[in-house]
Amino acid sequence: MTMFPPETRILVIDDMPSIRELVKNQLRGMGYKNIQEAADGEEGLKVLVQGNSNGSPIQLVISDWNMPKMKGLELLKQVRGVAEWQNLPFVLLTSESEREQVTEAVLAGVSQYIVKPFAAKVFEEKLKTVWAKHNK
Ligand SMILES: [Mg+2]
Repeated sequence: MTMFPPETRILVIDDMPSIRELVKNQLRGMGYKNIQEAADGEEGLKVLVQGNSNGSPIQLVISDWNMPKMKGLELLKQVRGVAEWQNLPFVLLTSESEREQVTEAVLAGVSQYIVKPFAAKVFEEKLKTVWAKHNK
């Protein structure tokens, strides 16, 4: 196995519905069907908690950086603060202007980051590196 299996439960978080749609379409194109979504970090955290309590934990988070209520970096920090999520694959979607802040995300334990906009092929390659990183 060199990639997340097709049944992987994925959470896509972005405040822009069009971006969520784009990311979901790219994921579907790679064969993923178990995709949930949230509009901000706060809502994303609720989905994560819910997944844990109903026995279907999220296995991959793809989160936007800049969002209302709770930004992606804050969500990442909260996630890494929970023992069972310390190794949860977490990808941040950033815009070019946020590139300099990426060091902070690396220190906070981000698995990988992708600068928007990105092609499906680039996205897939990034996900492969995330899989490899978490499955040594
Ligand atoms: Mg945003």
